[in-house]
Amino acid sequence: MTVRAIVTYPAEILEQECELVTVFDKKLVKLLNDMYDTMIEFDGVGLAAPQIGINKQIAVVDIDDESGTIELINPEILETSGEDLGVEGCLSFPGLYGEVTRPYYVKVKAQDRKGRPFVIEAEDYLARAIQHEIDHLHGILFTSKVSRYLKEEELEEVEQND
Ligand SMILES: [Zn+2]
Repeated sequence: MTVRAIVTYPAEILEQECELVTVFDKKLVKLLNDMYDTMIEFDGVGLAAPQIGINKQIAVVDIDDESGTIELINPEILETSGEDLGVEGCLSFPGLYGEVTRPYYVKVKAQDRKGRPFVIEAEDYLARAIQHEIDHLHGILFTSKVSRYLKEEELEEVEQND
């Protein structure tokens, strides 16, 4: 198990377009495993490669539900619908939480760790987590979408980080 260091804002790598993954090798598997360990260690529900200093289109999401761990390589949003306002945090912004409006439903095309393409559909909180991570891969941070930051007294109820 290898927990990597989290890159916190401000950092150039967090605001860059990440490169597509073209090689699906053992190194990628190790990276995905490390990303999972790091996400769990820091109580996140998702982690994108730039958050550990790697400029590649790779993200992991696990909101601790029946969907399990979702690995997204070169993800692309195919379709969205609806609208949902919810609270988000980010491991790259420790202690910061804000309300973000995003589509309620998302359909995403991505590749798995072997390079095989798949399509995933998600709603509600899972859709939110997936969209937050995909944003990271394009250098988009949740702070650019926050409509209202939570006050200190509201934070006690919030435990989840993306
Ligand atoms: Zn984040």
